[in-house]
Amino acid sequence: MEIKFVKADALKEKPDSSTLGFGKIFTDYMFMMDYSREEGWHDARIIPFGPIALHPASTVLHYGSEIFEGLKAYRTKSGTVQLFRPMENIRRMNTSAERLCLPTIPEDLAFQVLTEFVKVEQDWTPSADGTSLYLRPFMFGNDETLGVHAVHNATFAIIASPVGSYYKEGINPVKIMIEDEDVRAVRGGTGYAKCGGNYAASNRAGERAEKKGYSQVLWLDGVERKYIEEVGAMNVMFKIGDEIVTPMLSGSILPGITRKSCLEVLRNKGYKVSERLLSIDELAEAMHNGTLKEAWGCGTAAVVSPIGELCYKDHKYTVNNGEIGEVTQMLYDTLTGIQWGKIEDTYNWTYQL
Ligand SMILES: *Cc1c(COP(=O)(O)O)cnc(C)c1O
Repeated sequence: MEIKFVKADALKEKPDSSTLGFGKIFTDYMFMMDYSREEGWHDARIIPFGPIALHPASTVLHYGSEIFEGLKAYRTKSGTVQLFRPMENIRRMNTSAERLCLPTIPEDLAFQVLTEFVKVEQDWTPSADGTSLYLRPFMFGNDETLGVHAVHNATFAIIASPVGSYYKEGINPVKIMIEDEDVRAVRGGTGYAKCGGNYAASNRAGERAEKKGYSQVLWLDGVERKYIEEVGAMNVMFKIGDEIVTPMLSGSILPGITRKSCLEVLRNKGYKVSERLLSIDELAEAMHNGTLKEAWGCGTAAVVSPIGELCYKDHKYTVNNGEIGEVTQMLYDTLTGIQWGKIEDTYNWTYQL
């Protein structure tokens, strides 16, 4: 598809790497294209970054028809820019679209517009240690009616934001509170889709945890409040004895690309890995008897985030003396090594622009 390019009057000054933070600064341009049932995807364009005008009855504003993705462009030592497993994000976005009754995008078209957009903005990819250009593709329904139905009109957009190192002060294990009241998702719901509504529903528990001094919540399943699902907006893994355990994808868990990559690295290195049900009782038992060796969250933003303390019903448990464990460190070194091109990508996961 041809992509129209509308030049900005002036380009912004690139920020200093030390001031980046997460998702606060945006690049000069954004990508947009529209969908209608009659025309399919059309009017692909790269235009100056700026506000989006919406009809006040737009579906997204009333019924939450919205999905998104998150991936990063990394600057390698030799100066090139590369993406990490972008086709995985494209496929997952289509899975989310199907669940929310939004239109899917043919994979080759999604890949074309993503890579062409990143090429236009690649100079925004910072080069300081741990920094990257965060890419946020998103799609929303914009039928101009209050009628409730699958959307007939939608917009797909991509914005980009240079982001700082997640671990500026070194990798600090986080404190996690196990949430036994609110749930994030249920089987049959939208837990496996990356949609804005899941986040809106999880904010309350996150706020409560923060007030008590915890950085994230650990979610239990929505039916029995018994099985571990995710931690905050990350997947979660545990080393119990010599087994690496992560909750199996049951429909209410987001299939993370970092999760998938961790599992592939672990299996490749010969670790004993299980994707299975893990109950809070089994985890509590492992914390009591000392067989819980490591715990970590995994997702694109932090790569891996070691868990140093777990709190369940006001009981506090320290994991691995509150320090990062050996397996967590190995996963961090392997994935970041591949992403920033510091070690050879034997998995063929990176795509050079
Ligand atoms: C995005 C996300 C993840 C992590 O997925 P990655 O592809 O690894 O970034 C995990 N859980 C939730 C709820 C998410 O939204």
